[in-house]
Amino acid sequence: MHINDAVFLEDLCPKFRLRQWRKSIHKFTGKSCIYCGKPSESIDHVIPRCQGGLSTTENCVPACLSCNGDKSNENALYWYRRQKFYDPRRAMAIRAWLEGDLRLAIRLLQWANPNFKVKNKSYKKDESEYKAA
Ligand SMILES: [Zn+2]
Repeated sequence: MHINDAVFLEDLCPKFRLRQWRKSIHKFTGKSCIYCGKPSESIDHVIPRCQGGLSTTENCVPACLSCNGDKSNENALYWYRRQKFYDPRRAMAIRAWLEGDLRLAIRLLQWANPNFKVKNKSYKKDESEYKAA
């Protein structure tokens, strides 16, 4: 029998640490799905495990259940390109994430999703609306 020599985080860490790790992944995107921006309810493997993808932070992204289920065992980058909600900035973010550059990934996600940040913006917006009227 062929023995798969890949080491999965699930095998190495006790459950508690695994939970902490999952939490920290959701935190990176403010608990939003990296693909569509909806609330993330699961962790998705960018490169599926059946294709040799590992359970490392670089290969695991926050995803909503709908994206995760729909993508299933496909490579995320190929799958994402065909989606209606495709956004090249998010595609770049996924790639950066996969390469381990989480800071760049998060910056790209913020760019793709402006309501991700600054809440007190509404003040200024009101003002400009007045001027325009
Ligand atoms: Zn999603």
